[in-house]
Amino acid sequence: MTQIYSEEGIIQRPTVVDIDVAALRHNVQCARSLVGDRPLMGIVKANAYGHGLVRTSQEFLRCGVDQLGVAFLEEGIVLRKAGLRAPILVLGGILSEQIAHYLEYDLMITAPSVFKLEQIEETAAGNGERAKVHLKIDTGLERIGVHHDHAHELFEAAVAARHCDLCGVFSHFADAHAADGTYTALQLERFLEALEFFPRHSLPTPPRHIANSGAILQHPETFLDMVRPGIMLYGVYPSEETRRSAELRPSLSLRTRVVYFKVVRQGSRVGYDGTWTAPEDTRVVTLPVGYGDGYRRALSNKGSVLINGRKYPIVGNISMDQLMVSIGQDSAHNNEEAVLIGTQGKECITCEQVAYLAGTSPYEVLVGINTRVPRRYID
Ligand SMILES: *Cc1c(COP(=O)(O)O)cnc(C)c1O
Repeated sequence: MTQIYSEEGIIQRPTVVDIDVAALRHNVQCARSLVGDRPLMGIVKANAYGHGLVRTSQEFLRCGVDQLGVAFLEEGIVLRKAGLRAPILVLGGILSEQIAHYLEYDLMITAPSVFKLEQIEETAAGNGERAKVHLKIDTGLERIGVHHDHAHELFEAAVAARHCDLCGVFSHFADAHAADGTYTALQLERFLEALEFFPRHSLPTPPRHIANSGAILQHPETFLDMVRPGIMLYGVYPSEETRRSAELRPSLSLRTRVVYFKVVRQGSRVGYDGTWTAPEDTRVVTLPVGYGDGYRRALSNKGSVLINGRKYPIVGNISMDQLMVSIGQDSAHNNEEAVLIGTQGKECITCEQVAYLAGTSPYEVLVGINTRVPRRYID
């Protein structure tokens, strides 16, 4: 038998996430062909949307992604310790005691207020270093960032900060993935209006960026000087409504193998709390995957699984580490492959289908597959 290796070592567990590296490259090309030669900041927060932070980042940088975006400091440090040299922006909020670490690891800092920018300036001056800063403007998400109508205060402070290099100014959309572009247009207008500060004071405008996947797929007028694609690089559309302006290819699949076969007698209850009762004698297989892996319990009696190229229902409540599948009168043998997300033969279960069945978003499905499931890179 061939041995299979993940980032960590030999995989013994049959439950794996397979990453199709060619699909990652294809999706980067999709983004590239939409935005032209503007820099691409590939967003790799939350373990690269479940795809594995370091390896996915390396693949992105090899195929034309220019910069990386992560959510918090430690994610950036992991990338630096793995030897990645590309510019990395930490998108989230900062605490003053973290600033020295940003400088030490050459990570670009999000400055979301005058107060925070002053803390950055103080730390950089005190250490005799320079901080690389992106200013964050809130144009309607009410998350981090200075309100667009007070942006000039942050811009003035940034211009005066002698130990800060102004690497960018950015904002973030609330619903650029939606069919209705009204709010996106309003946010863009607020952003551009705030940015008029620079020409008005005869100052060079720093690189401006606001477009996430939804905007890249639907709103070319938002591309500005750089774009920040996340979910589309993984081959998944941000929502059902989003226009399919690129043919993305899903890169992640979740697979396991049958570990048990039994016949359940008519009238027997299956799983915790007996939420499913066999209507007739039925063949049931057990799969070694559960909500402890991030395969959501909400899919109990709703989700399905591919075995032998056919789709079968999950029956009973999903357990932490196992779940049961009814195969009716068909046969399935121990060690046969079962696919929870991905393709098998002619059948496919997409991460979007799983998300909508579970009452959540495709983002949460990808990110929810936790690190106890080994990632395997297929190229
Ligand atoms: C997550 C995130 C993105 C990427 O969003 P997608 O919808 O996955 O493309 C871009 N910018 C910021 C600030 C983010 O937090």
